[in-house]
Amino acid sequence: MSKIKAQPGIMDITLYQGGKSHVDGMDNVLKLSSNENPFGPSDATKDAMVRASHELHRYPSTDHATLREAIGDVWGLDPERIICGNGSGEVLMMIAQAFAGKGDEVLFTEHGFAMYPIYANANGAKPVVVAEKNRTVDVDALLAACTKKTKVCYIANPANPTGTMIDDAELARLADGLPKGAVLVLDGAYAEFVEGYDGGKALVESRDNVIMTRTFSKIYGLGGLRIGYGYAPQPIIDVLLRIRGPFNLSAPALAAAETAMRDTAHTEKCRTENAKQRDWMAAALADMGLPSDLSSANFILVRFESEDAAKACNDHLTAQGILVRYVGGYGIPEGLRITVGDEASCRRVVHAIGKFMNPDKDVDA
Ligand SMILES: *Cc1c(COP(=O)(O)O)cnc(C)c1O
Repeated sequence: MSKIKAQPGIMDITLYQGGKSHVDGMDNVLKLSSNENPFGPSDATKDAMVRASHELHRYPSTDHATLREAIGDVWGLDPERIICGNGSGEVLMMIAQAFAGKGDEVLFTEHGFAMYPIYANANGAKPVVVAEKNRTVDVDALLAACTKKTKVCYIANPANPTGTMIDDAELARLADGLPKGAVLVLDGAYAEFVEGYDGGKALVESRDNVIMTRTFSKIYGLGGLRIGYGYAPQPIIDVLLRIRGPFNLSAPALAAAETAMRDTAHTEKCRTENAKQRDWMAAALADMGLPSDLSSANFILVRFESEDAAKACNDHLTAQGILVRYVGGYGIPEGLRITVGDEASCRRVVHAIGKFMNPDKDVDA
């Protein structure tokens, strides 16, 4: 055993912790800890997956052509410059694998997605954490942290777990200010929740160093199937295609994703309902003295007066079978990230938090 050593960086990885999904001895648990879509996929999408099950003895498509075409049609993207992954996580990992290695640096911000340092370490590159400003990506700080070794910069827009966004002008300034040879990765896991936002499409199409990624795990309600994609300039796609596994997406996943992508009415319903419940929940919690930054995603990050209060509220919710995400691990010890559920779920969690804040008062929610 002693002679068998992992590559440099790998043992520096702290295992990713997903959102909790059960409480011992309790059924009827309300899971608002993983930013999942409370409505799930449409019936048409589920039917497409079941139909695909009749061909499970066949290998899936390796070029993902029909899915890329569907994505291109719906979002106005060039299908040739789309690469599909087993979740957007696979695409994000491939980017680090292709462009960052030993001696290189991978940039991301202090409250950034917990997978970014893992992508860096898994490929022997150095993770570089950059400060944010008021829980928002700070372009000046990122540019100041750049060196000749910087090869990849990951930004989620909207960001997780903060829900905050930076605008197109700031994104362009970041793309243009990076050192030559570094790519800007716009992780758009929550982009579809923002009305009128192109997720970085225009930036990708007007630069040679910008990649955007999107996922079917959030607004499309298909986290269990593992589908995502990237959109990038052709030379970058040509690099990524060389390291992509030929059968990285299963046939049922491809069939479901294609149907989900074209089912724009369902997507629109999810986006509208999310915005409505999110804004109601944020206002109701603010009324109790629990502020949150304006969220552009399908969750809100509420801030308590202290770490102890956030943890106590988390325990209070868990005891009632309501799971939210304590984000101490993201450098926000006083915060709880709450996924926007359907109307009944939002009312249930707000009511429970109201009881926590004012145990003696009758709270209507
Ligand atoms: C949920 C999420 C993803 C999606 O990952 P998948 O592998 O596509 O399920 C990517 N980035 C961020 C910031 C996320 O929150």
